[in-house]
Amino acid sequence: LVVLSHVNKHFGDLHVLKDIDLTVHRGEVVVVIGPSGSGKSTLCRTINRLETIDSGTIRIDGTELPEEGKALARLRADVGMVFQSFNLFAHKSVLENVTLGPTKVKGMSRADARTKATSLLERVGVGNQADKLPAQLSGGQQQRVAIARALAMDPQVMLFDEPTSALDPEMINEVLDVMVSLAREGMTMIVVTHEMGFARRAAHRVVFMDGGQIVEEADPETFFTAPRSDRARDFLSKIL
Ligand code: ATP
Ligand code: MG
Repeated sequence: LVVLSHVNKHFGDLHVLKDIDLTVHRGEVVVVIGPSGSGKSTLCRTINRLETIDSGTIRIDGTELPEEGKALARLRADVGMVFQSFNLFAHKSVLENVTLGPTKVKGMSRADARTKATSLLERVGVGNQADKLPAQLSGGQQQRVAIARALAMDPQVMLFDEPTSALDPEMINEVLDVMVSLAREGMTMIVVTHEMGFARRAAHRVVFMDGGQIVEEADPETFFTAPRSDRARDFLSKIL
């Protein structure tokens, strides 16, 4: 469903993505881990063209990502993204945060968008918060609203970039639980996270990045118990 082939990206002299090849199949959950600065966020951002690439190709469902224009907006709608910071519209209610994309980008009627948003908010466990402003919610609730907002666009794939790393510990699991249930429902997901519990519960594959390269890929059990590379072993010894 998502195919990156020989993707290279520089920031000035810094080669942040080095010849990345990555294929994520429909329904697959891939966890990306690696040290700070290894290029994980940049990888996520290139997948929906928040960042341009210097060479290589990125295909989603067989279609190469266009540089700009309407076609890009359409393809971007196929890729839901949830960031570390919640990025909700601060002056709009929770419900409006979730209805905005479908009405503005997809041309859905307000009534249909509200119905859909209400059911998505229920699904992530914040159905009773619909009329509040984001600032009136806890971090964990805001992040679940961000997930509902992304799902409202009916994405083919969801990208998560450290969605729980800004949360207080007691709120991490409520967000991870929503992500685990999404994974069990068959959503295709690319998740940057250091939450090994999530990786073990939900990931089909772990991708370890270091220095802009994919150094190692394995199923979670193999990766956590028997990493092949020194770099992965070293990294795991620091975080486990
Ligand atoms: P972290 O775990 O800290 O989030 P990361 O693996 O997500 O790290 P990236 O954010 O992808 O790493 O950054 C990869 C490298 O690219 C880093 O050295 C970073 O300083 C650099 N970088 C990221 N964004 C930019 C930018 N807009 N301009 C210049 N350099 C950048
Ligand atoms: Mg990052």
